[in-house]
Amino acid sequence: MPGAGKSTQGNLLAKKLKVPYLSTGHIFRDIAKEHTQMGRSIKLVMNAGLLISDSKTLQIVSEYLKRREYQKGYILDGFPRTLGQAQKFKNGVDRVIYLKVSDKEILWRLAYRDDGGREDDTLLAIRKRIEVFHKFTDPVIDYYHRKGQLLEINGEHEIDDIQREILKHLKVHGK
Ligand code: ADP
Repeated sequence: MPGAGKSTQGNLLAKKLKVPYLSTGHIFRDIAKEHTQMGRSIKLVMNAGLLISDSKTLQIVSEYLKRREYQKGYILDGFPRTLGQAQKFKNGVDRVIYLKVSDKEILWRLAYRDDGGREDDTLLAIRKRIEVFHKFTDPVIDYYHRKGQLLEINGEHEIDDIQREILKHLKVHGK
């Protein structure tokens, strides 16, 4: 979910496992800053709280993952986010961590987020992102659950407690 803590936990996990972290949201926010046709269209889609097309997303993620630093593994944040992305993703995933947070808590967190403010954190876009999550990403959670790859973690705890819970379930020991 937007505001569930994906990037916080993703970065912590990447550090712990010593594998690079890759966030599609960050990639798209960078592209949205470019004064190009693609930059402009991605910006419009993001600010409306909608998803970038599966083909564009898959193309960009696959391009990134060809780089040398990702050959020994990676932590992906915010991807796959649709059933189409999950099914067509060639590199694959081992485990999927779902940080579960209620809609109400998400609205609360994002409406009052003070990390500099994101352009897609308007109340309208936040509501849209929550709606889009349920429509497109709930089925992804179900998909990985059925494949036995899903790790569901309660995201309504302290950052450290959530990290400990994730590491416990991934069976990562020591520092
Ligand atoms: P949040 O989870 O708060 O929405 P992200 O940084 O993960 O933040 O994503 C921000 C925006 O980037 C999304 O609303 C969407 O427009 C776009 N985006 C990110 N990941 C994907 C994806 N896998 N597929 C399509 N669009 C994406």
